[in-house]
Amino acid sequence: MNVPFFRPDLQQAEIDEVVETLRSGWLTTGPRTQRFEREFAAAVGATHALALNSCTAALHLALAALDLQPGQAVLVPTMTFAATAEVVRYLGAVPILVDCDPVTLNLDLEDAEAKLRPENWPPEIDRDLKPVGLIPVHVGGLMLAMDAVNAFARRHDLWVVEDAAHAFPAAWRPDSDAPWQRCGEGTSAVTCFSFYANKTITTGEGGMAVTEDEALLERMRCLSLHGLSKDAWGRYTAQGSWDYRIVAAGFKYNLTDIAAAIGLHQLARAEAMRQDRQRLALAYREALAALAAEGFLELPPVPADRVHAWHLFPIRLGLERLTLDRDAFLQELRKREIGYSVHWRPLHRHPYYEEAFGWRPEHLPNASAVWPRLVTLPLFPTMTEGEMAAVVRGVGEVCGQHRK
Ligand SMILES: *Cc1c(COP(=O)(O)O)cnc(C)c1O
Repeated sequence: MNVPFFRPDLQQAEIDEVVETLRSGWLTTGPRTQRFEREFAAAVGATHALALNSCTAALHLALAALDLQPGQAVLVPTMTFAATAEVVRYLGAVPILVDCDPVTLNLDLEDAEAKLRPENWPPEIDRDLKPVGLIPVHVGGLMLAMDAVNAFARRHDLWVVEDAAHAFPAAWRPDSDAPWQRCGEGTSAVTCFSFYANKTITTGEGGMAVTEDEALLERMRCLSLHGLSKDAWGRYTAQGSWDYRIVAAGFKYNLTDIAAAIGLHQLARAEAMRQDRQRLALAYREALAALAAEGFLELPPVPADRVHAWHLFPIRLGLERLTLDRDAFLQELRKREIGYSVHWRPLHRHPYYEEAFGWRPEHLPNASAVWPRLVTLPLFPTMTEGEMAAVVRGVGEVCGQHRK
């Protein structure tokens, strides 16, 4: 049996809505995008939402709206995807990489505190840079404790923009007596979501920025469409004016109505799909518990005070119990036609961040130690019992045949 790493869960409603959009004659940003923004804002409990053509665009606009500039630095986890750090470079600022918690893989606030001091940066980085912000990532959809993140940021006068590419829908609370707070419900200055093909909901390519701050929203909206003045958005309605004004050197980041058509129906099923993934994740934990008890692997945690989006199911191999390394382990999965991925080779182990800023493994010890052990197993809402059984059997076989 061939088990893919991911299979998008698209239904007839999405297909029908796309066809209707094509028939409507309105292809780019219009009524469906506006409805998608309203409904997404309501789903996360945000005041404002801006639909964009990627999460990368959302992060870029958030940083631009916060006026990030050359001479400034931003704390960014090393355990993330390229997008989180590259947007800092778009604006000429420098990402300062922060280590991860070895179990959750989320940003480690203690190391963030240490990385505010230039003596803990590689010597190649200019000592005069001023840290102004922090971009936490909720890895795999497991939220950070946002009270601690925001207290840290306030203490050091930093803004917070969340890379919530994995975290819809997700929520956290400080303890079981506290109310839940959804990711995007005022959790930071701007929370950025991704609707890339393999994310928790998809529009093919797409993203959303949500905020409580109307001024930030207006600035992001303006920059998302060539820096045209606010009333230029009327261009998309019957009352639209030909006489726009360019008020900033903006970008072209708007979402199409074709994409929003898909998003509307994905959004309606987002919680049902999350529950499917949660059920599968818990089944994985049970089915892999014996291997974990023998030390062949470690399983992702399930903290009580989180609504976990379960975008990913990352395991950590117990290499001391195995005669093969992670890459050979993946080869064995491939032989068995089992899909996999690795989240991630940390940023500091990529040539650009090594060469341009001098990052070395010893600057980020936890991420350096954990990444050679990381394997992400397939997890998606339409995964069948047979597919899950094949993955569990395959992992068990590889461990059994290569035990130390
Ligand atoms: C996917 C991803 C992004 C980028 O999302 P796009 O919508 O593809 O731009 C950013 N950050 C993380 C952590 C991601 O996984």
